[in-house]
Amino acid sequence: MSTNSAVLVLNRHFQPIHITNARRAFSLLYLGVAQALDRQFRMFDFDDWAQLSSDMGDDVIHTVDRVIRVPRVIVLQIYDRIPKTKVRFSRHNIYMRDGNTCQYCGAARARTELNLDHVVPRAQGGRTTWENVVCCCIDCNLAKGARTPEQAGMRLLKTPMRPRWTPTFRAAGDRVRYREWLPFLDLANASYWNVELEE
Ligand SMILES: [Zn+2]
Repeated sequence: MSTNSAVLVLNRHFQPIHITNARRAFSLLYLGVAQALDRQFRMFDFDDWAQLSSDMGDDVIHTVDRVIRVPRVIVLQIYDRIPKTKVRFSRHNIYMRDGNTCQYCGAARARTELNLDHVVPRAQGGRTTWENVVCCCIDCNLAKGARTPEQAGMRLLKTPMRPRWTPTFRAAGDRVRYREWLPFLDLANASYWNVELEE
């Protein structure tokens, strides 16, 4: 068994649910709980997949009598589990929470023209948390410098908090392994936007 293989698991609506390993993916396939998806988005049950893919690929498992390719993506057939993880503390999600607007002057900007600002600067003991990091335009960032809003005579538009919404999918960025996953993930600059920030 190729233990390093990661398999993207989709629900019936082709929404990514989580990432599993090859062993677990094959047991779901074998039980008929999931089907394998190929690059043409065709679905296969275990037997069809085993026949179809016996002569293909680099990443395979060996059973007693055959060689089976490890699928990159499987689709659950039965239930529609919705991911229930806490919102990832990432650049992408901070910008999303703040609506891509500077939290001091309210300017809406392209993400490339926004920075992340520590409300209480790190130099003064401010932490990198949902409650202390906000979206900030470059002008306000420069004006504020390494000061608190009070020290800089600035005011936050609202108190930053951890968002209550549910993330669509947690696995992106550094965890994306295969191009077969790309159609199911929103991946523009994924590693930059979605990498978990150090709290
Ligand atoms: Zn601003």
